[in-house]
Amino acid sequence: MNKLAITRALANIVGAPFFVVIPENAEQISQVVKLAREHHLAIVPRGAGTGLCGGTTPLAGGVMISLTRMKKIFAIDYENRVARVGAGLVNLDLSNALAARGFFYAPDPGSQAASTIGGNIAANSGGPHCLAYGVTANHVLGLEIVLDNGEIVWVGGEAPGAPGYDLVGAVIGSEGTFGIITQALVKILPLPEEIRTLLAIFDSVERASHAVSAIIAAGIIPAALEMLDAISLRAVENAMHVGYPTDAGAVLLIEIDGAREGLDELQTLIGDICREFESRELRVAQTKDARAELWRGRKHALPALGRLAPNYYIQDGCVPRSKLPHVLAEIETIAKKYDLVIANFFHAGDGNLHPNILFDLRQAGAYERVIHAGKEILQLCVDAGGTISGEHGIGMEKMEYMPLIFSDADLGEMKKLRAAICPSGLFNPCKIIPHGASCAELFSNNLSRALAASGDMWI
Ligand SMILES: Cc1cc2nc3c(=O)[nH]c(=O)nc-3n(C[C@H](O)[C@H](O)[C@H](O)COP(=O)(O)OP(=O)(O)OC[C@H]3O[C@@H](n4cnc5c(N)ncnc54)[C@H](O)[C@@H]3O)c2cc1C
Repeated sequence: MNKLAITRALANIVGAPFFVVIPENAEQISQVVKLAREHHLAIVPRGAGTGLCGGTTPLAGGVMISLTRMKKIFAIDYENRVARVGAGLVNLDLSNALAARGFFYAPDPGSQAASTIGGNIAANSGGPHCLAYGVTANHVLGLEIVLDNGEIVWVGGEAPGAPGYDLVGAVIGSEGTFGIITQALVKILPLPEEIRTLLAIFDSVERASHAVSAIIAAGIIPAALEMLDAISLRAVENAMHVGYPTDAGAVLLIEIDGAREGLDELQTLIGDICREFESRELRVAQTKDARAELWRGRKHALPALGRLAPNYYIQDGCVPRSKLPHVLAEIETIAKKYDLVIANFFHAGDGNLHPNILFDLRQAGAYERVIHAGKEILQLCVDAGGTISGEHGIGMEKMEYMPLIFSDADLGEMKKLRAAICPSGLFNPCKIIPHGASCAELFSNNLSRALAASGDMWI
């Protein structure tokens, strides 16, 4: 097959890039960006590809830049509690590198064993421990970025509270549309003196949800406050054998940490609140291994659902946590309406829901039912005073739902910001902001330009 035929075949695959580049440094990325711009090719940055909103799908073909080789830890400054790392570094590798000196990197998405620091920043990822520690945005001090003219710049820096516009803040959560993050300066924290992990067992999701609100209302901010419902509990236990109760309606996985002094009182208080909402048992992990087992279950909840159905669609909405009982009951109603099974495990303390819609794509009409149910869940979150994404971002998946929370004027301002930072519009096009035309229309000459750009470089 010749080059033209291969490229045509690639272009026919939905979401396939024309080129994949795996650079080792920012200078190489700069050269690729300049070349891509010369030939008007879209550029899609990619970390580990664990994103859940289609953010790395190259809708306009073009060049995909994988950051996975740029995983160096350049410097760790324990005194000032800062680390400078390559964007392709896997999140957990940073905490593992810090552990021996008693430090860690706090943002811990469930994907932390695979996802990259750069991807976490581009998505402004959360995670179980972001309830107390804050999401990724709270832990980034500075960024090295390649702009769409190929220029390599640093924004932010070690000194906190720098004057001027918060350009670091603008790039965080921009999902690859503003520039390519190549290095990050991130905060590191000392490991807490003691950590306790509790499992509060309830007969119903409703009781567990009320306990979540009551714990926060009592002025307690646990390090983590996660919920798993009955369907998720059974799926996890069958797959992972971590000791979760399979006859419960819901559990709360609660972690408290900090100075040893005071943790006993906190644990008692949480136990009392859970009992007030008819928790039938409060288990406390007695060893480090027992704690790790409880978390292993939670962190494998998503893959465990694969045992229940051949396909699942994970939703990501956010509501004020006091609305959890109402919203979870309504999700059950939506599941019945569309004859679907929906499993819930989520960051309950943040009100960040992850209804997982289980289905079989081979069944006629299943896909349409799932899409309708997903949209109704998001509308439900918005109606409850919440929003359409708690942490997974917008990407291509939720672009059309942006008008549920933003006016035309809001979206217009976002477009202006995007055009100011990325005038060419080539970074991750056709994502986040609805654009009114298909990507194929916007990049109609893309294929011939790709061929011109490839020259003799085809491999
Ligand atoms: C099992 C599982 C559990 C998860 N749990 C959580 C969770 O608890 N919390 C949470 O928030 N998310 C979670 N996620 C979603 C996902 O892991 C996060 O969004 C993560 O931050 C993506 O990182 P990544 O390296 O895989 O990025 P990718 O998926 O490769 O990219 C994500 C987005 O960032 C852009 N991007 C990537 N790297 C760069 C870069 N260097 N410069 C500029 N843009 C870039 C991409 O273009 C894309 O738009 C989970 C996913 C899975 C599969």
